[in-house]
Amino acid sequence: MILILKPNIDAESREFQLIAEHLKKTPNIEMRVHRVQGAEQILTEVYLIGNTAALSLEEMKGFPGVEHAVRVSEEYRVLGRHKDDNRPNHFSYNGVEFSQDNLNVFAGLCAVDSPKSVEEMMRALQANGQVCTRMGAYKPRTSPYSFQGYGAQCLPYVFELAGKYGIKVIAMEITHESHIDEVREALRQTGNATGVMLQIGTRNTQNFELLKNVGRQQEFPVLLKRGFGITLDESLHAAEYLASEGNQKVIFALRGMKTNIGDPHRNMVDFAHIPVVKRLTRMPVCCDPSHSVGGRGRSSDNILDIMHITAQAVIAGANMILVDFHPDPGIALVDGPQALRMSELAKFFEDVQMVREVYEKRVKLYAE
Ligand code: PEP
Ligand code: MN
Repeated sequence: MILILKPNIDAESREFQLIAEHLKKTPNIEMRVHRVQGAEQILTEVYLIGNTAALSLEEMKGFPGVEHAVRVSEEYRVLGRHKDDNRPNHFSYNGVEFSQDNLNVFAGLCAVDSPKSVEEMMRALQANGQVCTRMGAYKPRTSPYSFQGYGAQCLPYVFELAGKYGIKVIAMEITHESHIDEVREALRQTGNATGVMLQIGTRNTQNFELLKNVGRQQEFPVLLKRGFGITLDESLHAAEYLASEGNQKVIFALRGMKTNIGDPHRNMVDFAHIPVVKRLTRMPVCCDPSHSVGGRGRSSDNILDIMHITAQAVIAGANMILVDFHPDPGIALVDGPQALRMSELAKFFEDVQMVREVYEKRVKLYAE
C-alpha cells in the first residue's frame, strides 16, 4: 500500500506520527518513506510493505495527513501502475520534460574520442534545435584489450562544450558507483554547464549493488537499459531497485535482445514491448535503434534499417530515442559501423517529427 501524504506533511509532522503509531499496532508492516519532487512541491510517499492485507484502505485514507492511498500489487510497487493510482508518469530535469506523453531524441557519440568530434556533434545538434545528446565516457567492452573510454579525463571538456552549445541533458553510461562522484565533480568544475542522465547499460541491468547506489541519489535521472538476455519482467524489477532506493526519475530503454534469431541485425529488435512497458509502469520508454540494428544496412526503398526501426519505435509511442551519430565514423573508437552521419542528422529529425505526428493522430483516433 502507498500513502501519498498532503503537501505540507512530512515524517516530522504530528499527522505522520499518528499514522506511524497506528501501524505499530499491526504486526509485520514495514514503512519506507520517500521524498518525491511533485509538480510544485516535494511530496512524501509512505510505502507499506508486509502484511498490508490486514489494513483497511478506507481507514488509511481517513487519516488527516493522507491525501491519497493506493493498494498496490506485489509487482513493481514504486514504478508500476496500480488501480486508482494517480501518481505522475513524468518528471523534469534541467529544464527538459520526460514523460510517457512526449518524445526526446538523444543523438550523439557512442564513445567520446576527441574534443573535435564532441564539438562537431554538439554544434550540429544545436543547429537542429536539439538540447539532449548521448556521450559515452565509460565504455563496458567485451574484450579487456578494447578501448575502455576516456572516463573522468574527458568529462570537463564534454560538459564545457555542452554548455557552449546549449545542451541540457547528456545520457552517459556509468559502470561503477564511483563514476557518479566523478560526474558530479566535473559538473561542479564547469559551473554545472549541463545536466547528466546516468545510463545503466545492458550488461549491468542486474548489477544490483550498482542499481542500489544509483537509486540512492536523486540528483541525476537514470536511463536503465533492458538486460539483453533476461525477461522483460526481470528488467522491470531491476528498474524497481532504483526506485525502491528513492530515485523514481527512471526511463526504461529497449535495445534489442541477444539471439541469432535476430540476424542479420545485431540484436532482435524488441520495440513491440513499448506499449507493454507503458501500461505496466509509469516510466517513459526509450528505444535505442543503433544497438538493436548494429549496422548501416539499407532496404530496397533506400531507407536505412536504423531509420525504419526508429520510425517503428516512434509510431508505437516511444518517449525517447537514443541513437549513435559520428562526424567521422571511420575514426570512431567504438561502434563506428552503426553510426549515422552528420549529413543524415536533419533528415533523421524530420523523419522522427513526421512519424511522431502520425502517432499523435493515432492517439486521437482511438480517444473516446
Ligand atoms: C551504449 O548505449 O553505448 C551501450 C553500450 O548500450 P547497451 O548497454 O545497450 O549495449
Ligand atoms: Mn555502442
